[in-house]
Amino acid sequence: MPDVLTPSQRRLNMSRIRGKNTKPEVKLRSALHHAGMRFRLHVRGLPGTPDLVFPGRRIAVFVHGCFWHMHGCYRTVAPKSRREFWSAKLRVNRVRDERARELLLSDGWRVLTVWECAIIGRTAVPVSDLVQDVGKWMDSAERSGHISGLECSAIG
Ligand SMILES: [Zn+2]
Repeated sequence: MPDVLTPSQRRLNMSRIRGKNTKPEVKLRSALHHAGMRFRLHVRGLPGTPDLVFPGRRIAVFVHGCFWHMHGCYRTVAPKSRREFWSAKLRVNRVRDERARELLLSDGWRVLTVWECAIIGRTAVPVSDLVQDVGKWMDSAERSGHISGLECSAIG
């Protein structure tokens, strides 16, 4: 089959498929960058290809879409059709996330997960607070942390 996509269309498709450069991710990283934080993006050599990496501080940050990674918050709406298919697919994502986190932790990395609901939508944390929360966590001794949307009851 001939390849009918232009390079830029292909990039767009790939980024959608891989869940990279999503709107919440771009919003978070531009806020952090603006605050003077410097990091690397999508480091493939690391388990789970973390979205942001602070190599000097050995910190990996994942920005997770609430639906794709089964956050359990209001943004995690189960599709009505093909329920079995979706639940199996999403469970696989969840297991993969957990495995990546464990591998990173056992290799001495600290891992922060920032959920989409903390960045966009009705439970979004004001962006300056978000930057502060990330900075606070980075300065803490916690090995593994999560930032969720305001008044979000979902855990991790
Ligand atoms: Zn969420």
